[in-house]
Amino acid sequence: MSEDAWREFKLLAPTPEHELLAETLGEFVRREVEPQAAQHDREERFNHALFLRAGELGLLGVTLPEEFGGAGMDATAAVQVCEALSTSDPGFGLSVLAHALLFAQNLSINGNEEQRKRILPKVANGEWVGGLCMTEPEVGTDVLSLATKARRDGDGYVIDGTKTFITNSGIDDQTPGDVFIVYASTAPQKISSFLVERGMPGFGLGQKWKDKLGMRASFTGELVFDGVRVPVANRLGDEGEGTLHMMRNLEIERLALSAMSVGIAQRCLEVMIAYANERKTFGALIRDHGQIQRYIAESFAEYRAARVFVYDTARRIRLDQAGQRVDADATKLFASQAAKRAADAAIQVLGGYGYMGEYVVERLWRDAKLIEIGGGTLEAHHRNLVKDLSRDPGLVRR
Ligand SMILES: Cc1cc2nc3c(=O)[nH]c(=O)nc-3n(C[C@H](O)[C@H](O)[C@H](O)COP(=O)(O)OP(=O)(O)OC[C@H]3O[C@@H](n4cnc5c(N)ncnc54)[C@H](O)[C@@H]3O)c2cc1C
Repeated sequence: MSEDAWREFKLLAPTPEHELLAETLGEFVRREVEPQAAQHDREERFNHALFLRAGELGLLGVTLPEEFGGAGMDATAAVQVCEALSTSDPGFGLSVLAHALLFAQNLSINGNEEQRKRILPKVANGEWVGGLCMTEPEVGTDVLSLATKARRDGDGYVIDGTKTFITNSGIDDQTPGDVFIVYASTAPQKISSFLVERGMPGFGLGQKWKDKLGMRASFTGELVFDGVRVPVANRLGDEGEGTLHMMRNLEIERLALSAMSVGIAQRCLEVMIAYANERKTFGALIRDHGQIQRYIAESFAEYRAARVFVYDTARRIRLDQAGQRVDADATKLFASQAAKRAADAAIQVLGGYGYMGEYVVERLWRDAKLIEIGGGTLEAHHRNLVKDLSRDPGLVRR
């Protein structure tokens, strides 16, 4: 390697495969995602046809092994997908994330060969829509207290409980998603993971959450498990391994949500810069007013910091290993708030127009808030970070 070769390293697209993915995403977002985004937000409707198209383009299985229909790529590729979709339609991006990472990547790491072979090809192309069921009406952050029970019964288990706020729980108001990883307690303080599939007796879609603040193009609903019989073959790993499964997949989940925030901030910056270059007040372009400069400059600096942090963490994450938990928490803690501030600044720069749907940033402002809650609240990140840093202060200088 020549002395300067390391300077050529492209953090945002390190290989020709990543460059190709960036091109595919750019085209897809411009031609197919952007034209439908406002309407699906307005109608609070998941775009199933667009989802299938994302499957055709290989975007639903970027991190899955090639033998199961995936592209066999890494955390950087997952970040690219989530960032790009969220420059246009974070609600659709959230559905893709829940399917591709919360469900499919989780199964890919924690499932056995038979489960992977049977299910992954169908989720890689979008034929099946998947999701992850952790949250319950009474339990979110305090996940070890979950109330859904899986009772051993002969050659299987019987699951009883309710999960709520589940992304992709429905494809439309009547049809549940196809397949879910469900965390349920098999003994006090022991959580196990199960695959539950549409059509299993006792499993069904409860209420759809309507009038969400943002992410309205993703379906959020309740799933009901009323004596659902699940064969042992649908248990992931051993009994009691559910917490381990959660931990193994948490880093990529949080990083991908951070990437969504970066995509939101990117679009907000583009909108506010373009507007400030055209709008005049008091005989001058508003970009010449110091207060407007501050909105743009601060948003840009935070966006750049978040973007580099997210891609650098992606570079270090191995999808089959834990090890980057502090940065997964820290990227989301920072990027989610930076995106919300950028969206707020964009509305302010646009004045009254920023408040109107046509100018996009009001939708991004609503969408940005979710990332401070879903996949771990800000307060959960504070807690995790201080726990990890207290245990190993060396992480600060790493
Ligand atoms: C649009 C949307 C999509 C979602 N998709 C999914 C999904 O696909 N699958 C899924 O399983 N879940 C999903 N969720 C749920 C989400 O992950 C939870 O809402 C989140 O984990 C917080 O849980 P909670 O809402 O029960 O809040 P709670 O845990 O009840 O927390 C309430 C408040 O108390 C704070 N708090 C809790 N404990 C502490 C503490 N020890 N110290 C300080 N503060 C604390 C929290 O930070 C929060 O501010 C989704 C949520 C939304 C809104």
